Amino acid sequence: THFGYREVPVQEKQRLVGRVFTSVARRYDLMNDLMSFGIHRLWKRHFVAVSGIRPGDCVLDLAGGTGDIAALLKPVVGDRGQIVVGDINAAMLGIGRDRLTDRGLVGGLAYAQLNAECLPFPEASFDAVTMAFGLRNVTDKDRALAEIRRVLKPGGRALILEFSRVRGELLGKLYDFHSFAVLPRLGQVFAGDADSYRYLAESIRKHPDQETLKAMMTRAGFDHVEVRNLNQGIVAIHKGFRY
Ligand code: SAM
Repeated sequence: THFGYREVPVQEKQRLVGRVFTSVARRYDLMNDLMSFGIHRLWKRHFVAVSGIRPGDCVLDLAGGTGDIAALLKPVVGDRGQIVVGDINAAMLGIGRDRLTDRGLVGGLAYAQLNAECLPFPEASFDAVTMAFGLRNVTDKDRALAEIRRVLKPGGRALILEFSRVRGELLGKLYDFHSFAVLPRLGQVFAGDADSYRYLAESIRKHPDQETLKAMMTRAGFDHVEVRNLNQGIVAIHKGFRY
């Protein structure tokens, strides 16, 4: 105070930092809901419902930052199961952990800050690896796929939920309009940031389509690779096994 500034006490600072991240997390959810009309919740639920993951499984949820997939997986793997939430971003991991903890989900959950391109687990560690809306952000996707396969036990499965190529001309046109006209405006109004949402639309456009990703998974050594479109291919689920 002698020098004209007020030092923020540690506790108050912790509270402030907490509030900032809470607002980021809340906005993140709001944006997801606005951009997808809330449908991302249904996509995620469907993704876990058709995953084939069973009670007692040990699952790695890659790019699991928000904790959404882990929250859905928890009742599936049950008390005997294990879920490791892995994300490259410490702040996102923290948000996910806080949310899951607030919902009383604690046991059988672990958190790891990691890069999907270089997983810090020995070979054959998991029954399943899930990745929802994460592969798009990974620079070297072939390397990430090879890593996912490496950490799977024989018989284990990889499940990828990601934006893909829309089928049908009319839906395609609507989708383009939504991506390039609506999204940046939503981003501007609700997050004060049009550029990030323009980037988002472009990253979706550049992401490999259904057949390309299927071929990449096969090349990475996965067996019985299957694709399932949701909402005419706005998003797709890719599944592949390690034998
Ligand atoms: N799976 C969550 C969901 O569906 O709500 C979060 C998806 S969010 C769009 C993408 C996440 O991928 C972010 O939390 C980001 O930090 C993470 N990510 C980006 N690149 C990554 C990488 N190379 N390895 C691991 N995580 C990564």
